[in-house]
Amino acid sequence: MLKDLFRKQKKYATIPTEATKNQVPEGIMQKCPTCGTILLSKEVEKNEKVCKVCGYHFMMTAPERIQSLVDDGRFFEYDSDLISVDPLQFPDYQKKIKQDMEKTDLKEAIITGEGTMDGYPVILGVMDPRFRMGSMGSVVGEKIARAAERAVQKRFPFILFSASGGARMQEGALSLMQMAKTSAALQKMNQNQVLFVSILTNPTTGGVSASFSSLGDINIAEPGALIGFAGRRVIEQTVRQKLPDDFQTSEFLLKHGQLDLVVPRLELRDTLVKILELHTIRG
Ligand SMILES: [Zn+2]
Repeated sequence: MLKDLFRKQKKYATIPTEATKNQVPEGIMQKCPTCGTILLSKEVEKNEKVCKVCGYHFMMTAPERIQSLVDDGRFFEYDSDLISVDPLQFPDYQKKIKQDMEKTDLKEAIITGEGTMDGYPVILGVMDPRFRMGSMGSVVGEKIARAAERAVQKRFPFILFSASGGARMQEGALSLMQMAKTSAALQKMNQNQVLFVSILTNPTTGGVSASFSSLGDINIAEPGALIGFAGRRVIEQTVRQKLPDDFQTSEFLLKHGQLDLVVPRLELRDTLVKILELHTIRG
């Protein structure tokens, strides 16, 4: 019933597929960094940007990710007008933001909004690693907090895809505060028993891994993703030990109980739909 009600709303803005395709900077062919196979870019795109030979997961942009998840590509974006200010007058920050806006056609390193997946309403947040390395500044934090608040109001599950180098240094302590702000907003979801699913993609590091991306009721990662707080060298120097080769990968974290699942991208949508189905009360 809920499904039908939701479908009647026609307030969606559509992210056009052609525009999404135009944002991909690669040429006709590309080389897989893991197995070295030369692949047709079109084929890679058709295969959700996964190498057909070895299963390497290429970087996905936020619009591509949304397209691959929501029904008929229909997505209603939240807070698209929020843009970063330069609170510390950090050298070149505004210039770099402007460059990234032009390069990516995005206004910030995350897109939030709502759509349906197999008819189930969801709120989605998707970070884009092309924009300031997906770093978390005040706008990223604010968009996540607002999406979590809407999830509570509407009682829709919230699925958040992380791809981030961590906190945004150009915003100093303000970017660190986003860790507390997003965590508090997610705590409210928890108190109200609304589902939060975190998907960690390559890379999820620094303050993002130490806040919202590790706070899912269910934490899922894509295969081979780099996930960690500090870098390998810093940890090795601090603990004066050599770390295992697969340290800070999805598979290592799954083995050590920090993740619930590692799901290949081509199975991710089905897995998420199954999770949504399990958490939906039918009227
Ligand atoms: Zn490959």
